[in-house]
Amino acid sequence: MRRYGVDQQMFDAMYFEQDGQCAVASCVREAKCVDHDHVTGKVRGLLCQGCNVAIGFLESPEWMEGAHGYLVEHGGERR
Ligand SMILES: [Zn+2]
Repeated sequence: MRRYGVDQQMFDAMYFEQDGQCAVASCVREAKCVDHDHVTGKVRGLLCQGCNVAIGFLESPEWMEGAHGYLVEHGGERR
C-alpha cells in the first residue's frame, strides 16, 4: 500500500478506527481504498471500492447533472 502517500501504518490505524468498514455510514463493505480530497490532497477516510468510485463521480457536478438527467429520462428518479 504505497499509493497516495499513505503508508501501511497509517492505513492500519484508520482501518482500526473505522472497524474495517467503509467510511460511508450506510455502507457495510470493507474499507479498502484511501479517499482523498482532490483539491487539498488531504486524506478523508477509507472507503470500499464501490464508494471510492461513487464519491469520485459525486464530486463532478457535470457527472451529477448527466446522471440525474438519465434517471429522469427513464422515470427512475427517486426521492
Ligand atoms: Zn462503501
